[in-house]
Amino acid sequence: MEITFLGTSSMVPTKDRNVQSIYLEYNGEGILFDCGEGTQRQMNIARINRLKVKKIFISHWHGDHVSGLVGLIQTVGNTENPGKLTIFGPKGTKKHMAHLMNSCIFDLRIEIEIKELVADKPKVVFETDSYEVLAASMTHGVPCLAYSFVEKDRRKMNASKLKKLGISGADIGKLQRGESVKLTGKIVEPDDVSEVIRGKKISLVLDTSLNDNISLLAKDSDLLIGEATYESSKENKAEEYNHMTAEQMAIVANNSNVKSLVLTHFSQRYKTLHDLEKEAKEIFPNTIMAFDFLKLKV
Ligand SMILES: [Zn+2]
Ligand SMILES: [Zn+2]
Repeated sequence: MEITFLGTSSMVPTKDRNVQSIYLEYNGEGILFDCGEGTQRQMNIARINRLKVKKIFISHWHGDHVSGLVGLIQTVGNTENPGKLTIFGPKGTKKHMAHLMNSCIFDLRIEIEIKELVADKPKVVFETDSYEVLAASMTHGVPCLAYSFVEKDRRKMNASKLKKLGISGADIGKLQRGESVKLTGKIVEPDDVSEVIRGKKISLVLDTSLNDNISLLAKDSDLLIGEATYESSKENKAEEYNHMTAEQMAIVANNSNVKSLVLTHFSQRYKTLHDLEKEAKEIFPNTIMAFDFLKLKV
């Protein structure tokens, strides 16, 4: 699983930072979390194949998180076999997408599916055989969701043990699904011939003021990506504008059994992130300050 930060600025692009978008690649499938203005070009620079993107999860409809959608859909939709793109987002996503698709002249071959999500408490909103995506509502003055990408646990079979017991074919599938297998005079349990590899969890919390759902969603994450628009002395301002400070997000990480924290969505007022980094690391040492094109393997 690899994550690329395509934008790390809040509200406006700066010379060094574009607005929000995070690309996650899992088993060759691309998933985009938000798609701010200029995301396509950022993908070029990061050498990400746009055609891999089959799902986009939108946190909310403020421009810095969605204004790159038109361009991306235009490019991907004009290719030979674009297939299907599914866009997930909070309440209002269908209406906003309808406006967006009327905002220019498209000649698209792409099929677009739109899923509006409601998640007062963290819940699974999308699932495949290998992973699930959870969403939870945030506090941002407009409908807004945070997400977790959770890889499912899987069993790693021990080939030599299987061979020794003479287990093959469909029986391996059974054991992989956690079922026991009956051999002559013996029952083999999955744990006898395999070990459970715990799936990884990544949580993405953008644009919100502090609320209970953040810890609930982020609990036990291997990686928490969290907004840190302001420094702690601007906590009142953060509250007023429905954002968070680096310190607040570090406290959440500390209280949620998170392994590592990446802060992003910085206000353009900060020419250096030194103070934000210091206050976060005092509480949660394993903190990384995101920059555009930062890649992380989880
Ligand atoms: Zn924002
Ligand atoms: Zn916002």
